[in-house]
Amino acid sequence: MRPFEFQRATSESEAIAAAAAGARYLAGGTTLVDLMREEVETPEKVVDINRLPLNYIRATDEAIVIGALARMSEVAANQDVRRLQPLIPETLTEGASPQLRNVASIGGNLLQRVRCPYFRMLDAACNKRVPGSGCSAIGGLNAGHAILGTSEHCAATHPSDLAVSLVALDATLLLKGPRGERAIPVTDLFRLPEATPHLEHTLEPGELIAEIRIPNGPYARKARYLKVRDRSSYEFALVSAAAALHIEDGLVKEARIAAGGVGTRPWRMNAVEAALLGKPASRISYEAAAAVSTEGTRPLSGNGYKVKLLPATIVRALEMAGEVA
Ligand SMILES: Cc1cc2nc3c(=O)[nH]c(=O)nc-3n(C[C@H](O)[C@H](O)[C@H](O)COP(=O)(O)OP(=O)(O)OC[C@H]3O[C@@H](n4cnc5c(N)ncnc54)[C@H](O)[C@@H]3O)c2cc1C
Ligand code: SF4
Repeated sequence: MRPFEFQRATSESEAIAAAAAGARYLAGGTTLVDLMREEVETPEKVVDINRLPLNYIRATDEAIVIGALARMSEVAANQDVRRLQPLIPETLTEGASPQLRNVASIGGNLLQRVRCPYFRMLDAACNKRVPGSGCSAIGGLNAGHAILGTSEHCAATHPSDLAVSLVALDATLLLKGPRGERAIPVTDLFRLPEATPHLEHTLEPGELIAEIRIPNGPYARKARYLKVRDRSSYEFALVSAAAALHIEDGLVKEARIAAGGVGTRPWRMNAVEAALLGKPASRISYEAAAAVSTEGTRPLSGNGYKVKLLPATIVRALEMAGEVA
């Protein structure tokens, strides 16, 4: 690990000023420290934000509001979250390991880095790590890579499970930065790789994720997360789907669906949602709607199986959501 300067911030303004001057925020460190150890990331300065008052979970009639420093395990165990937003605990417990979830923060989860193996191999070409160096995955091993939102410069999937469910649930972020506060939909946090895969998010220099707001829509209680992976724990998604349904008189009144493991960012399935509206809540409708999920997919040499696995995963997630009492 390269030497770096360490600062422990005791106020948001102190942290934001340090980050605006180039320091990296440190929350649980389960992504950042890992990458610094491997010298994939080499920040000259790190600012620890764990003393900031951003570890809270609040339930209101309209939304669940989660401070960015709440730990994954705390959010998954919270009774209000379990009652009003059951998709979130299910999604969180499908990720990482109990030990990691005790340490990893909700804000850090959204900004974790990709799991493409070449990103971590310092001697491999990787546009995300070294802009302009090329992409080893496109002509190399790419079975785990994306089929949506790729470019000739990068095809790495976004790794966060939580981000998939937050995108499905229309969650928003409160950001605080040198120029004040703003709120954005979670979906707007993530950039497509296009020609600049090293730019992964839309935060301005120094901006801090302060909290996440998840609206309590009528669909939120009938929601499930299905994660398909190589082994049943401690593994990232090959394909995942978050599905939330509002069903009345046997018909789909509202649907919220997003997929993981297939896109270079968490992928909202707007066309699938539209195809479900007004249809009977049945496997036949789910299959017909999920068929449009593959529009625009561009498989690589090793990941064509995801084009079949994606609609199948969505159908099963919809069935699971429809079965919630
Ligand atoms: C072995 C292993 C398996 C894993 N499996 C999964 C999995 O299956 N599914 C899954 O979703 N995740 C998985 N993860 C990822 C894990 O969930 C993330 O590492 C963790 O959530 C990151 O949170 P952190 O608080 O440790 O972030 P840190 O490592 O502290 O920070 C991560 C990044 O976010 C930035 N950051 C942190 N907080 C803020 C903030 N409030 N505002 C702005 N920037 C911020 C940091 O500067 C850094 O760039 C796994 C990780 C490991 C190591
Ligand atoms: S897919 Fe992206 S992260 Fe992986 S080698 Fe290519 S540029 Fe790097």
